[in-house]
Amino acid sequence: MAKPVVSIVKSRDIGQSLREAVELCGGLQGMNKSDSILIKPNLVDWEFDLPFPPFGVVTTTALVFALVRLLAEEGFSRITVGEAPLPVPKSKGRRIYQALGYEKLKERYGVELVDFNEEKFVPVDFGGYKLNIAQRALEAHRLINLPVLKTHNLCRVSLGLKNLKGCLDRKSKILCHGKDHDLDHMFPAIADKLPPGLTIVDGTYTLERGPAPYGKAYRKDLIIASRDTFACDVVASEVMGHPAREVPHLAYYAGISGRSPDTSGIEVRGAAIGEVGFKIAHDWDWEEDDSGPLGFKKRGITGIAVRKYDKTLCTGCSGMYNPMLIMIMSAFKGQPFPGVEVITGKVRRAGPGFEKTVLFGKCICDLNKNNPNIKKAVQVKGCPPDLKNFEKVMQAEGIDCRCDDYVKYRGSYFKNNYSDREVFDMGLYIMQ
Ligand code: SF4
Repeated sequence: MAKPVVSIVKSRDIGQSLREAVELCGGLQGMNKSDSILIKPNLVDWEFDLPFPPFGVVTTTALVFALVRLLAEEGFSRITVGEAPLPVPKSKGRRIYQALGYEKLKERYGVELVDFNEEKFVPVDFGGYKLNIAQRALEAHRLINLPVLKTHNLCRVSLGLKNLKGCLDRKSKILCHGKDHDLDHMFPAIADKLPPGLTIVDGTYTLERGPAPYGKAYRKDLIIASRDTFACDVVASEVMGHPAREVPHLAYYAGISGRSPDTSGIEVRGAAIGEVGFKIAHDWDWEEDDSGPLGFKKRGITGIAVRKYDKTLCTGCSGMYNPMLIMIMSAFKGQPFPGVEVITGKVRRAGPGFEKTVLFGKCICDLNKNNPNIKKAVQVKGCPPDLKNFEKVMQAEGIDCRCDDYVKYRGSYFKNNYSDREVFDMGLYIMQ
């Protein structure tokens, strides 16, 4: 049997390099000019109220434009861009498209822009559970998947298979992080339900300790492409220093599809993995006694135990976790906290011996409502919780958490990490 082909191109001019990557892997083979093509970038979120570094977090708009141009030059005219960004508090797909200049794709190439959240989802059977997949994605003739070359603190890497989770409605996304399911077993098979096509990993930037904007981005200028999503992920994961057999969802997919998670079964064209590869961490380190992120103790923060997140924490609460942590750290003014435990997710039970237990998110509030270990429950309800509410609830307990501190942190994080405008070019995201 012929080996799947994956191309790796070190990008200089994004249009030319994209064409090279697509041609090297035979990316358009089997596509008819009359096919309807759905492009699925990773636009999981864009924060409008805070400095938002998109580097390695979302797909560069420049790559999306280059792809549409290439398809138009090749005679394809039925092109749609679709995504289901985090719908909290309400879906902002249209606002994101507008802010990033996607409207020009409509004007110049007649591309249709779709926010899946506003459209129909179809229940699809996965043998024992159902996931609601965007009808648009199911009905396209071809799907071109544009994930980012990034790590993920829960899934180790977030590439082609993971980006397809963005074709689900909110209810199904939450189910993937459910207490009765293993996240790594829930989303990989989505690829098998969707139309065939092409995966192009946007490695303009890569993200350490992703997937959110408080990870650390590095400029890499790589494009990795294949008609085989799994093979593409195996290679891209290896490029980031994470062999696929060590990535639970890739190892799982290899098992259910009878494939090898090794790169030896893949033909790599263009640059070699060893030539472009690097090693970046995927997760945050925690204190050994699970009392908070590594460094808590060094900073002298005591009297509080912020338990580490687990895989049941879905994207909504995940996005609030870092703000919550930063606000707690800023509230520390040299005096020990008054014996506080903070728990999140859907399965954690509060432990004994604390004066106050902060239950962050509706799921954890519900799970622990009758927990006899809890002396004083500090409930931060919401799905996901709202930071203003967190501030209010914590202040009522005498813990001086402030949203303003988080806003300041984000400003300085952006400035300290991304001030080199030549490397970290917002023009790759916001098309004029
Ligand atoms: S409360 Fe948090 S963990 Fe629970 S469903 Fe909502 S976002 Fe997910």
